[in-house]
Amino acid sequence: MDIRFEKTSCPKEKPESSTLGFGKFFTDHMFMMDYSREEGWHDARIIPFGPLQIHPACTALHYGSEIFEGLKAYRRADGKVQLFRPIENIRRMNNSAERLCLPQIPEDLALEVLTTFVKTEQDWTPTANGTSLYLRPFMFGNDETLGVHAVHHATFVIIASPVGSYYKEGINPVKIMIESEDVRAVRGGTGYAKCGGNYAASNRAGERAEKKGYSQVLWLDGVERKYIEEVGAMNVMFKIAGKIVTPMLSGSILPGITRKSCIEVLKKEGYEVEERLLSIDELDAAMKDGTLEEAWGCGTAAVVSPIGELCYKDVKYTVNEGKIGAVTQKLYDTLTGIQWGKIEDSFGWTYQID
Ligand SMILES: *Cc1c(COP(=O)(O)O)cnc(C)c1O
Repeated sequence: MDIRFEKTSCPKEKPESSTLGFGKFFTDHMFMMDYSREEGWHDARIIPFGPLQIHPACTALHYGSEIFEGLKAYRRADGKVQLFRPIENIRRMNNSAERLCLPQIPEDLALEVLTTFVKTEQDWTPTANGTSLYLRPFMFGNDETLGVHAVHHATFVIIASPVGSYYKEGINPVKIMIESEDVRAVRGGTGYAKCGGNYAASNRAGERAEKKGYSQVLWLDGVERKYIEEVGAMNVMFKIAGKIVTPMLSGSILPGITRKSCIEVLKKEGYEVEERLLSIDELDAAMKDGTLEEAWGCGTAAVVSPIGELCYKDVKYTVNEGKIGAVTQKLYDTLTGIQWGKIEDSFGWTYQID
């Protein structure tokens, strides 16, 4: 596809790496293309970063038809820039689109526009340790009518943001509150789709947890409030009596690419990994009898994030004395090593931008 390029006339100054944070700064350009039932995807363009003009009746604003992805471009030691398993993000985006009745983007087209955009903005990939260029592709229903019906027009955008470490405290263990009232998703709903609505529904519990000093919420299943699902924007894993246990993909959990990568690394390292139902009672028992050895969240933003404390119905449990465990550390080192090109990528996960 032809991608029109409109270069910015006022390039911005790049931020100091110590001030990056997460999603505060944006690059000079953004990618956009439009979809209509008649024309398919068209008018692909890389244009100066700036506000979108949308109709006040835009479908996404009223009926929530919006999906997104999150992946990073990493600066290797040799100066080159690479992506991590981008095709997995593209496939997941199409699965999310299918669930919300948004249009599919053919995989090769999506990869082409993504890599072309990253090439254009690659100078924005920061070089300091642990920093990266976060890519946020998103798509929304863009019909200019209040009628409720399947989407006829959609817009796909990619923006990019140089980011530091997701957690201000770095790799220090986080405190997580197990939510026993609100639920995030149910089977048959949109839990497996990466859509903005899931986050809107999560905010109330997230705020309650934050007020009590917890950084994120751990969700239980929406029907029985009995089985562990995932943490705010991360999947969750536990080491119980030597084995790795993680909730299976049941339809209400986001199929994380970091989760999938952790499982593949762990299996290669010889660990037994069980993807299954894990009840709060089983976890509670493991916390009490000391067989819960490690707990961590995993997701693109934080990579791997050790959990140092879990709180369930006002009872607090300390995990691994509030310290990062050996398996969590190994996963962090392996994944970040591959992502930043510091260790050999024996899995073939990296995708170099030339
Ligand atoms: C994005 C996301 C994850 C993590 O997925 P990755 O592909 O590993 O980044 C986990 N849970 C939720 C709810 C998410 O939105």
